[in-house]
Amino acid sequence: MSKNEPEHLRHSCAHLLAAAVIKLYPGALLTIGPAIEDGFYYDIDFKKPITSEDLPKIEEEMRKILPSFTGFFHREVAEKEAKEIFKNNLYKLELIDEIVGKNEKITLYRAGEFEDLCRGGHSDNPSKEIGAIKLLSVAGAYWRGSEKNKMLTRIYGTCFPTKKELDEYLAMLEEAKKRDHKKIGPELGLFFFHETSPGMPYWLPKGFILYSTLLEFNRQVHKKFGYTEIATPILNKKELYETSGHWHHYRDDMFLSPMSFLRGDSEKHLEGAETFGIKPMNCPNAMNVFGLQTRSYRDLPLRFSETSALHRFEPSGTLNGLFRAREFHQDDAHVFIRNDQVEEEFGKIMEMIKELYSAFNLNYRLRFGTRPENHMGEEKDWDQAEKSLRTVLDKSGEEYVLEEGEGAFYGPKVDILLKDSLGREWQTGTIQLDYQQPKNFKLRYIDESGKQVTPAVMHRAIYGSFERFIGILTEHYNGSFPLWLSPIQVILLPITDKHNKYANEVADKLRSEGLRAQVDQRSERLQAKIREATLQKVPYLGIIGDKEIENNSVSIRTLSGEDLGILNLSQFLQKVKEEIDKKV
Ligand SMILES: [Zn+2]
Ligand SMILES: [Zn+2]
Repeated sequence: MSKNEPEHLRHSCAHLLAAAVIKLYPGALLTIGPAIEDGFYYDIDFKKPITSEDLPKIEEEMRKILPSFTGFFHREVAEKEAKEIFKNNLYKLELIDEIVGKNEKITLYRAGEFEDLCRGGHSDNPSKEIGAIKLLSVAGAYWRGSEKNKMLTRIYGTCFPTKKELDEYLAMLEEAKKRDHKKIGPELGLFFFHETSPGMPYWLPKGFILYSTLLEFNRQVHKKFGYTEIATPILNKKELYETSGHWHHYRDDMFLSPMSFLRGDSEKHLEGAETFGIKPMNCPNAMNVFGLQTRSYRDLPLRFSETSALHRFEPSGTLNGLFRAREFHQDDAHVFIRNDQVEEEFGKIMEMIKELYSAFNLNYRLRFGTRPENHMGEEKDWDQAEKSLRTVLDKSGEEYVLEEGEGAFYGPKVDILLKDSLGREWQTGTIQLDYQQPKNFKLRYIDESGKQVTPAVMHRAIYGSFERFIGILTEHYNGSFPLWLSPIQVILLPITDKHNKYANEVADKLRSEGLRAQVDQRSERLQAKIREATLQKVPYLGIIGDKEIENNSVSIRTLSGEDLGILNLSQFLQKVKEEIDKKV
């Protein structure tokens, strides 16, 4: 990875923020300060809480210190020395214990006069590379994201090489705020969150139409590419996750529950209890499906798709509407392949990506991660797999970046990075080749010579989470979904109550042709009805009065206000059906 990546710049700026805070607020305790998408934050335990009014002063101090940040100098220290240095900071002491527990090196990074406990990942010379800084907001954040811990102050900020880039970013933020799906979603009656299930969306009727329309399209494409769909248990014994290896890595992020089968006896409730976990991913269950019977080389590739509910116990402070939810569904699939099928299968997946994204007028690029240092498995498998993926990527003509060493420890991966209408980039889907899980589950197929061979598996999701994808689409379209996705495609607006009957007949007719049509039967003036339909972002408004009834027709207006004039019903039907089919 190049040292001057934006992420390194932003993380360097978190150090700068910390340096300024320590100067202005001696005795404030620093905790952690990572780079995040488009910026950075630092969580700090202030003696006296600060507010956003304090930010300009801190920003000013950062600018003063910046010229001294000419580089980052690091040293490795022993546990004892590290604990001496940070003896007054219980948070850093906890972090040091954690580093020691993982048998990792304790490293300190200094820039200017400021030194901090850090794992690294900085720009070479911040004083030259950081051209514009902005502190954005202050928020509360629990230490380690746990509500049992103390509430800290989180300062968010961002920085760029030039002021122009910062200004563009701030303008984009302003527009993004208007389009926030957490605001638009409830306004359009798509979804909401209830305090009794934090991070888990309730889909309202209109939102569920969006959800199921997207799912249906996704299923069609999967069918076309030879996938068959499975559904597997949501609740599994911890033994399943021990076999897959997730128990060790993932347990803290899972919803777990000891389940007793000694019902009704509260004393003994937990005696003989078994631990169950709600699945955070589908992989282990998919392995069981493959392992159900002896497979032949002729059965491969075997493509199982699954869209079951997944749950991850994300820290409450990180929840962010549909973007980061605790319950979600992926357009997930596990494709079991022979080693010689990597190239062809990956080529097919590339075609699917194209088909599944072309419906939204969204651009994407790909990120190719190759073997990390601590990878598992045979070198020759890695060589072949990486070569195959690269061949397909090169042939595809798609834009991609290579990130050496950024693959998973069990295989190379390709991520999909989506660009929305505001120019923001989102990681959505991912394709990961895996030689390890099939081994953990002792999966076998019989090859041409009758020998038992372990297959490889491709974990892949193309939209990623449907929830998150709908969040992205909501902001990308600013709530004005294309016709094929719109929860209400046509709304009929009777001019007076006496036109209601005919309007309902038209709606029935449109519905019988598969359209999503409604009638605004309120005794309101037409202008008020038009206004409401516009707020609800319905693509077609059909106005009905005496003239329309006489001609068995509708006057059509589009959401953008374009008047299409009086259309007879069959003309109108043909027009919208064409648009829906073409996903205009
Ligand atoms: Zn650092
Ligand atoms: Zn998987």
